[in-house]
Amino acid sequence: MFKRIGVIGSGAMGRGIAQLFATAGQQVLLYDVRAEAVDQALAFNRELLERNVAKGRMTAEALAATLERMQPAGSLAELAECDLLIEAIVEKLEVKQQLFVELEGLISDDAVLATNTSSLSVTRIAAACRRPERVAGFHFFNPVTLMKLVEVVRGERTEAEVIDRLVALAEHAGHFPAITPDTPGFLVNHAGRAYGTEAQRILSEGVATAEQIDRILRDGPGFKMGPFELFDLTGLDISHAVMESVHDQFYQDPRYTPSYLAAQRVAAGLLGRKTGQGYYRYE
Ligand code: NAD
Repeated sequence: MFKRIGVIGSGAMGRGIAQLFATAGQQVLLYDVRAEAVDQALAFNRELLERNVAKGRMTAEALAATLERMQPAGSLAELAECDLLIEAIVEKLEVKQQLFVELEGLISDDAVLATNTSSLSVTRIAAACRRPERVAGFHFFNPVTLMKLVEVVRGERTEAEVIDRLVALAEHAGHFPAITPDTPGFLVNHAGRAYGTEAQRILSEGVATAEQIDRILRDGPGFKMGPFELFDLTGLDISHAVMESVHDQFYQDPRYTPSYLAAQRVAAGLLGRKTGQGYYRYE
């Protein structure tokens, strides 16, 4: 196992990743450019875990120990001793590259840099690094503790040992790792493009409403969430960036053309649950 895990980005994904590994017994440090995001993430996790205690799923002692294992970091420099760094920051290639370059200047040569990117090329993120062989994808799904699948993405230059250690860590935390090649959208977000883009096309052509499409896909084929509910949960800023990225990486293949409906909502700041409105309104 790793001695200490640094999680960078304390939003929806970072806080879930921190909770998953702290619950599994790992020491976790949580960092964000916005210090208040770390406080909010820790408070959110505490509340979730307290609910587990109330429901008898966790003891009060286990809660106290888990919270103790999840600590805030006030700067990137405080992550220097971590031997696994998992980033869950904004879905932008240059920003992720810049972060990894900065981290490489702080951490030991053996440390592993993992990216939770949904759609960017792990190989391209790693190409900015001095040691690309220590970089891999570690792609969780939202909400992290409930969605048991994690894609362990092998970049072109990732060492086998790095993949093996991430697989072992995921299994240790009770997740199901799937080793995937570094292709656009990996496996889940490649297959998922059909679900999302086609639903948006149906909506933009006026064939059915978002509510109807969601209901049909839930009640018919039995998906847990309809595509528009899923967009709102993921955040349209994230899901639209994924669509654009997969489209670009497949050389603008029209099969993956993103929807102007999502682009408009992103421009208007209607990002889904996190802003109170996306395809649906939230009180
Ligand atoms: P989010 O907006 O909820 O959180 C991102 C956090 O990163 C914010 O708190 C922000 O302040 C912080 N941040 C931004 N730039 C930073 C930097 N340079 N250094 C440190 N912190 C920085 O986003 P999210 O939904 O948690 O997504 C994060 C990543 O995870 C993205 O790459 C996304 O594609 C991926 N992802 C998201 C989902 C999902 O369903 N939301 C699923 C799988 C993967």
